[in-house]
Amino acid sequence: MEKEIRVRFAPSPTGPFHIGGARSALFNWLLARKTGGKLILRIEDTDLERSSRESEENIKAALKWLGMDWDEGVDVGGEYGPYRQTERLDLYRKYTEQLLAEGKAYYCYCTDDELEAERQALVAQSQMPRYMGKCRNLTPEQIAEFEKEGRKPTVRFKVPAGQQIVIHDMVRGDVVFDSDGIGDFVIVKSDGIPTYNYAVVIDDALMHITHVIRAEEHLSNTPRQCLIYDALGFEKPVFGHISLILGKDRTKMSKRHGATSVDQYRKLGYCPKGIVNFLALLGWAPNSEQEIFTTEELIQAFSMDHVAKNPAVFDLDKLNWINQHYMRQLDDEAFFEAAKPQMIEAGFMTGEEEGDKLAWLKKVVLTSKEHVSYAAQIPEVVAMYFHDDFAFENEEAAAVLKEETVPTVMNMLFEQLGQLEAVDATGVKATFKTIQKTTKLGGKSVYMPIRVALTGNQHGPELTEIIPLLGLERTLKRIKGSLEKAGVTLA
Ligand code: GLU
Repeated sequence: MEKEIRVRFAPSPTGPFHIGGARSALFNWLLARKTGGKLILRIEDTDLERSSRESEENIKAALKWLGMDWDEGVDVGGEYGPYRQTERLDLYRKYTEQLLAEGKAYYCYCTDDELEAERQALVAQSQMPRYMGKCRNLTPEQIAEFEKEGRKPTVRFKVPAGQQIVIHDMVRGDVVFDSDGIGDFVIVKSDGIPTYNYAVVIDDALMHITHVIRAEEHLSNTPRQCLIYDALGFEKPVFGHISLILGKDRTKMSKRHGATSVDQYRKLGYCPKGIVNFLALLGWAPNSEQEIFTTEELIQAFSMDHVAKNPAVFDLDKLNWINQHYMRQLDDEAFFEAAKPQMIEAGFMTGEEEGDKLAWLKKVVLTSKEHVSYAAQIPEVVAMYFHDDFAFENEEAAAVLKEETVPTVMNMLFEQLGQLEAVDATGVKATFKTIQKTTKLGGKSVYMPIRVALTGNQHGPELTEIIPLLGLERTLKRIKGSLEKAGVTLA
């Protein structure tokens, strides 16, 4: 029987949950779900100053919002917990004692100033700055002296000299590092807290992780981690470093490129399914041209073989195109729910509406369904239903109302609309027909002035949609107001 695939997502809860983190989580989740394996959620909170529970909660909420679940880890538990690194300090300590006893690690008493001086000296000689092992062979007397001075030691890993470290990376192929380029690095800080490169190895080993799939920026950490696996006699997992996410200008994705956190996209009213679909295509490509995938289809189609080595480009237009597909798929009720927070924020509703008012709001919101990529765009699309007082978009629009046939058209419109039993799309359509027939005017001479008088714009939704939603009274009020503004008097 093949070994069960066990992957993990191991975020550091130190700030907003980045879209790149969500992509790493997704690739792990897809692999686990595809293979019937397990996804473990581990919280790497050893940076005590920057880590917070709030950020952890935010990450978990974002994962859930995106539809990802985990089989073991924080909140759900499991055989290899605890799953928060600060709750595993005793475990790390045990291995540190072992490494110290075996002479594979040592206490280092160097001060920050001493380390900085060493760094500068190496740079001055055009050498790669690294720790040169000053404390490797301290005598018991030297140690006693440092202790007396009150120095708190770190623990450094003794990097073996002259070793080639080969990483068989699922994405990048074999990547070779030379151990001589790596100075003895700190595995436990002076406050007793392990560093990332150390804790991650112990956790991945003890949690029986089979595949470590993470961002490319960790590739340079991997040789250090390999050395620790070897020193502790742990079996190494398979590594897969997925490429960086770049902005459209090919520089590393950052705030300059727009929203970078999952939360920002949630607040802008993107569909979680749209984000997941888009993230899956950031570095992975199916065998086919297909771009729209349900989650089920993604699970079926996903494979690490098709994860690309070259950087993934974050193309917002593509995200919007994909998300528009999901917005259109929402049923009317779900679309309105998605619009609600945005409409409230825009001041177009309070959320307390009911009855006719609520029914009207729903109709208004639904007019935008085919025209938006994400929910935050909705208020702007429907804004015209909320402002009876508006300006003409430009001179050209205002000029439309000056044409000599306008008074005739408007007089007829008022008369005809007033006679309708119901101001609905059918009634409005019939009204236009009558006006055209009676006046013998071309369509444009009829529609355009009415459109401009109602909205100030020469473009927009169908009048058969606008007029019923505004209702007779507001329609007349708007037209009269516009004519007045344009200095046109009706006979
Ligand atoms: N805590 C690390 C991070 O958030 C995890 C890296 C890894 O997956 O090994 O970058």
